[in-house]
Amino acid sequence: MEELIEKAAEELARATNVAALTGAGISVESGIPPFRGPGGLWEKIDPMEYAHIDAFLKDPVKVWNVLLKDMKALLDTARPNPAHLGLAHLEAMGILKTVITQNVDGLHQLAGNTDVIEFHGTFAVHRCMDCNRRRETCDIDLDRIPPRCECGGIWRPECVFFGEMIPSRALWRSQQAAESCDVMLVIGTSATVQPAATMPAIAKQAGARIIEFNEEETPLTGWVSNYRIPGKAGNVLDRVVKRVEALRG
Ligand code: NAD
Ligand code: ZN
Repeated sequence: MEELIEKAAEELARATNVAALTGAGISVESGIPPFRGPGGLWEKIDPMEYAHIDAFLKDPVKVWNVLLKDMKALLDTARPNPAHLGLAHLEAMGILKTVITQNVDGLHQLAGNTDVIEFHGTFAVHRCMDCNRRRETCDIDLDRIPPRCECGGIWRPECVFFGEMIPSRALWRSQQAAESCDVMLVIGTSATVQPAATMPAIAKQAGARIIEFNEEETPLTGWVSNYRIPGKAGNVLDRVVKRVEALRG
């Protein structure tokens, strides 16, 4: 593990155009449970029953009560952890250019990264299903479920539910970042949700080094990724970034 941390730090210290692809695992240490894996939300609920757009359209009260209410409570108070802060630090050092995140929690922006592609949208804003008005999530009143806009329409988060399209600009910009980076950090993602999971393969094909940070193996491990550093993302990234700093002088 020590050797892998040193190796990653050396590769990053030499790099000038790094992209990161992040998933729910990077926010676990901020208190937000992932979907898959130990302690994951899907041990308790069936995703297709709650996180699919058809489920929301069919029974918004159920999806608001079981999934969205809890998410709002969690995200209202979550703070960036050392993994998010490490990525912000890498940007400040001129090494990291773009974060492609599958998360909807806004923690990369809070940490200080300035170019964050929100591949699956954001939970920070809601949109009225009838009049398309937008409102910050902190101003959505949950006294009544489902919460409703003044026009009577139901509020939905600006995230991409299963069964919905990836915003085309996010997809296009992510592909560009993947094709042009010299190193891609793949952090805390099970790499099973498409098309986000193809970004590391695109980067690899274009000649980038792929470094995975995950407690567990993924479909990328030993194939697309050059190596995987196990352990908790907060602890590992913090150590890697401190070494990069030292190497850079
Ligand atoms: P996932 O839930 O499918 O997988 C999480 C991955 O993170 C697993 O591979 C797990 O081994 C790893 N992991 C868990 N804790 C870790 C830690 N402390 N350090 C390093 N690795 C750790 O996540 P996904 O691939 O992002 O796919 C889930 C989808 O659900 C995403 O598309 C996202 O939109 C959504 N989601 C978002 C949030 C959020 O915004 N924070 C939370 C849950 C789900
Ligand atoms: Zn409305």
